[in-house]
Formats: sequence, structure tokens, C-alpha cells
Amino acid sequence: MLALRDLVKYLRVLRLRASVEPITEDYRGWSWYREPVKPPSYRNISLSDFAYLYCQTMRNVYLKYVLKVEQRITKPLLEGTILHESVYAAIEDVRRLLYDGASPDELLSLLSHACERVNNIIEKVVSLRNASLTERDRDDIHHKALSIYKHLVLYYAGEIKRVETDVVDYRPDTLLGQVIPHFVQFQADGYLIGLSRKLIVDAVMPGVILEMKFGNMVSLDLVKTALAGYALAIESDYEIPIDFGLAVKISFTRLCRGNGKIEFLPRVVVTPVYLSDEVRYRFLSLRDEAYDIIETQRDPDIARSCPEYCPYYHICRGGAT
Ligand code: SF4
Repeated sequence: MLALRDLVKYLRVLRLRASVEPITEDYRGWSWYREPVKPPSYRNISLSDFAYLYCQTMRNVYLKYVLKVEQRITKPLLEGTILHESVYAAIEDVRRLLYDGASPDELLSLLSHACERVNNIIEKVVSLRNASLTERDRDDIHHKALSIYKHLVLYYAGEIKRVETDVVDYRPDTLLGQVIPHFVQFQADGYLIGLSRKLIVDAVMPGVILEMKFGNMVSLDLVKTALAGYALAIESDYEIPIDFGLAVKISFTRLCRGNGKIEFLPRVVVTPVYLSDEVRYRFLSLRDEAYDIIETQRDPDIARSCPEYCPYYHICRGGAT
């Protein structure tokens, strides 16, 4: 998602803040055995069920963990998964070709197979989720996924061209360290801080984690809170400090070309986030609130406004029981 050169530019902003406001031991994930990091108990709770606070009252937590109501897959949730998968696919495809010795120009061959690649991703996600899409929704998602896939292939091809002459001892790994310096879908065990045992972070680099969000579904403040949660989980599992996060927001502009062809242009905005004590405290408070709902079996009120993508919309707002 970000070449090393861009990453350094974003992190420079945060270094100063870290020197004047260091993260205290109390708020490190490896302090999992004492408060405030210690969880009220140990349950398999998914971070995304509470940290993004898409339900202001956390009724979703009550429905899922107390009543065990099944979720309904909504179009925005399906779209988010497909777009994430398209990003991972572009990164995997670029990596694979580079290991095969491809030049930046040869990487562009991925563009001619992009349509098929994206179609396969959509088929796979829809069938795994046991969901369905109208033709119009499928078309819409397809165009967005295609645009982000192509955008990344072009971005990486350009970056490789820029750095390859500077790489002294050419090996794929040396080049990849400069161009794709992160692991995607990094797994951590969140058990010690009361979260799911298979917690997946969008991308991880030494000392930095990255979280992608598509569209306007979640506020930046809540993405920061979620990043703090992922940092705490990695610190508790691996004892590696994670001080910095990058919130990557990807939105699309719809263009209608003269020939009636629809295209989406992706816009990527990166916000560097210092994972301070304050933002960690905010995350831990939300976690404790979610635990309180589950352990006391308290049914919170229906939220004042409910996003239609909420997987429980049909329960709270649709009259189903
Ligand atoms: S429908 Fe509303 S109240 Fe119910 S879980 Fe979703 S956001 Fe919360």
C-alpha cells in the first residue's frame, strides 16, 4: 500500500510527538496481567464488533454475544471485504512477479488480467459469505475493485522503476523491502487482552501498523481507536512495541466517460496516528463497556441512528425477532 519512501514521510511527523509524550508501561500490551490492560475476563470478542462503534449503544454486542443472533451480510460489508481482497491480490501478484524476476514494465502485464482477477475475487467472497448481489451492485463493486487493483499495480511499477537503479545488490527481497515493506493480513492472538485469538491486522511493518477503510463508514477517530487495539494485541502477543499507526482511507469518484463507460477513480488519504496512552485508554474503555454488556446480559437501547449496513438492522429496525 505504501512504499518505504512514502512511509518515512508520514512517520517523520510522529517522531517528535513520541519524544515529548512517550507511551507508558501501563498502556503497553505486555502489561496484560494488570489493569488497565488486563481484561475483565477472557472471551473471544472480535475487535471490530466494538472498536469502530458503528452501533452507538453497542446493541450489536448484546445481539451477537448474549442472544447469539445471526448477522445478515449487507452490501457495504460485502463491498468492504471485496475491496480489501483486491488490495491484497494486487500486492501478492506484484510480489510473485518480482520473485519471478519481472521488470517494472513486465509488471504491467497484470493490468490485462485485472478484470478476470477481480471477478474471481467477487465470486469467491460472495460464495464464502453465502451472500448474493444484484447485477447493479456487482457492477458497481467490480469497477471499484478494478480501479484500486490497477492503481496499486501502477503505483508499485512506478516505485520499482524509481528505486531499482539505487539497489546495489539486486535481489527481489532487497527491492521488495523498499517498495512493499509490509506484511499484509498479519495475525495476532488477542487472548491476553480479552480479544479474539485470530485477530487480523491489515498490514504490519516494524513498529507500525496500517488499517484501511473504504468510503465514509467509519470516522477517523474510531479508526485511531481500533489501531490502538491492534497495537495492544500485537504487543501482548509478541512483545514488540507498536508506537505508530497509519489510517488509510480510500474513496472513489465515479466518472462517466463520453462513450457511456463508467469508471471509478480511487483517492487514497493517509493519516499518521501516534498510538498514545490517551487513544489506548479510549480503546480499553470501549472493550470494558462491551464486556460489561455481555457479562451483565444488559440489553442496550436501540441506537438513535442506525446505519443500514449494520448486520442487525433487520432485527432492531425491520421488525424481525
Ligand atoms: S440496528 Fe441499530 S441498534 Fe441495532 S445493532 Fe445495528 S446500529 Fe445497533
